[in-house]
Amino acid sequence: MSTDKISFEPKVLEGEINIPYKWTTGPAAGKFLTTLRDERKIIGLKCSSCGRVSVPPEEICGKCRKRNSEFVDISDEGELVSFTEVRVPVFWQPAEPPFVIGFIKLDGADTLLIHRILASASSLKKGLRVKARWKEEREGHILDIEGFEIIQEG
Ligand SMILES: [Zn+2]
Repeated sequence: MSTDKISFEPKVLEGEINIPYKWTTGPAAGKFLTTLRDERKIIGLKCSSCGRVSVPPEEICGKCRKRNSEFVDISDEGELVSFTEVRVPVFWQPAEPPFVIGFIKLDGADTLLIHRILASASSLKKGLRVKARWKEEREGHILDIEGFEIIQEG
């Protein structure tokens, strides 16, 4: 047996793996998505222990770890808390870059919703008021909201 070391150049094969999948949303996300579709309305879950309202709804409170069970209506308007411009394309994105993603604190919610902002990054600043632009044809998906538009200078 030879004791010579084997030397080789690493070879990289490039390819793409397509993995179709389905999964259950669970009761909270399922009700959230069907309410978007059927009622054109945003709902959250309120913690019966600490009162925190999560959107999208969290089955377990992210603050006190109790089970949430009270669905509450949430406004489709809120405040732009932060944002960034997406410039690198990834296949699952809702649009071709460049586009803006924002953290939105909807009126009545204590958590932030991440969604597309329908404006250029250069026209935005923290604190602007935004409102959902709904799609006419909805299918029970977060993109039933096309994005959020500026409604008032903050
Ligand atoms: Zn709680």
